[in-house]
Amino acid sequence: MYDMQLVIPFINAQAKMKIEEHRLFRRYLLTIPFPVIDDMLHRIASKIQAETDCQTCANCCKILEPELTSDESERLAILSTNPTCFAQECTKLEPGTQILFMKAKPCIFLQNSSCSVYSQRPDSCANYPHLSEPRSKFRMARIIDQYGVCPIVFQSIEALKEHIGFAVGTMLPVS
Ligand code: SF4
Ligand code: SF4
Repeated sequence: MYDMQLVIPFINAQAKMKIEEHRLFRRYLLTIPFPVIDDMLHRIASKIQAETDCQTCANCCKILEPELTSDESERLAILSTNPTCFAQECTKLEPGTQILFMKAKPCIFLQNSSCSVYSQRPDSCANYPHLSEPRSKFRMARIIDQYGVCPIVFQSIEALKEHIGFAVGTMLPVS
């Protein structure tokens, strides 16, 4: 339906253009109870997610650094071609928080726009873009960080703006 070659640069540019709009949007959300926002966003996002073919996109797998538990890291190391190399070259420990992340970009498990370890992928990949989690109002800064990365987030935020009467939503370009 959408040409991701057009969509990804478009949402990236929109994210840069809308920094001030998104600051005002987050302020506007403060006037609405969080369960109301959760309900709207969850309904909007689940519909958009169901209509999106992630295999035509895979942008998150190309540019993000998913968080890993130590169990997930061990599991993926075994699934990689070289476990020692996986630990050294494909993961990093964040100083201070000691949280483990995958760091290879694109992800070494991405093959022809598909996840080659799909059934064993980390929870942070399975739950991305985290729009169905509760208290979205209080996570909105992090959600909007993904506005220029993920077409599902872009469309969900634009639809939410319309639903709450904040702005007329921006549409994705079609080829
Ligand atoms: S979750 Fe978002 S960024 Fe990732 S592949 Fe699907 S549409 Fe693309
Ligand atoms: S493990 Fe799979 S879902 Fe997660 S970033 Fe890599 S290719 Fe994408």
